[in-house]
Amino acid sequence: MAGKRVLLGELTWEEAGRAIREADFLILPTGSMEQHGPHLPLLTDTIRAENLARLVAEKAWDEGLKVYVLPTLPYGVSEHHMGFPGTITIEPDVYISFIESIGRSLARHGARRLLIMNFHGGNLAPLQVAAARIRSRHGLRTYVMVWTSFARRYIEELLKPEPVWGHACEHETSMIMLFRPDLVRRERMRKPRIARAEAWEGARPITFLYFDEITDTGGLGDPTKADAEKAREIVEKANRDIVRALKRILEEEQRLYPCRSQS
Ligand SMILES: [Zn+2]
Repeated sequence: MAGKRVLLGELTWEEAGRAIREADFLILPTGSMEQHGPHLPLLTDTIRAENLARLVAEKAWDEGLKVYVLPTLPYGVSEHHMGFPGTITIEPDVYISFIESIGRSLARHGARRLLIMNFHGGNLAPLQVAAARIRSRHGLRTYVMVWTSFARRYIEELLKPEPVWGHACEHETSMIMLFRPDLVRRERMRKPRIARAEAWEGARPITFLYFDEITDTGGLGDPTKADAEKAREIVEKANRDIVRALKRILEEEQRLYPCRSQS
């Protein structure tokens, strides 16, 4: 819904009071401030978060949902990128507490549902802990989603990425070409050499690796395949699917058994 004020931070307290109570979902976009190869800005995830969460909210209003977007969190948990200058990482326990404080505040103002829309892999595990705490300590039903997981099939269909992608790659480069083309250093784009040439199939043990152990540029995939027009199509389709998923959540909640901790 173009022209609709969907950004909670642009409302007054009187407007916000109503908005928070009536909202089907309050979206908290979570980004990062970390290296994204030699050709993309440090705030790549945050730029994606800011733009994509707002577009999801506008589409949701068009489909009859009431959705407002909180300010994007520009810092994330990025220890694995600390081998590259400019990366700022927040300690996971601090990050969890910070997110919990946002949830606690919203719960106090009468929010019904928080949707954390995440754009950086390192945030995911702490966000899941925070979401559980927000529900158990403050009674606010909280969902965590990864935008890219809704886009994955369209990214694979349209951009045909390398077997290992997901950071400063075909996808993220296309998104920054779409939203902030002025920030893409096209002359610096190149396919990185990576230590793991193929995606794993099946189960595997997991260890903590620094990105400078995996890739020579800091990126994965092949950014030279990036395409802003394909990004536009991916955004359109993924956001449509996300709005469908939000509607389905509301339907499913009707069928849940009541929980004593939920006011
Ligand atoms: Zn990223």
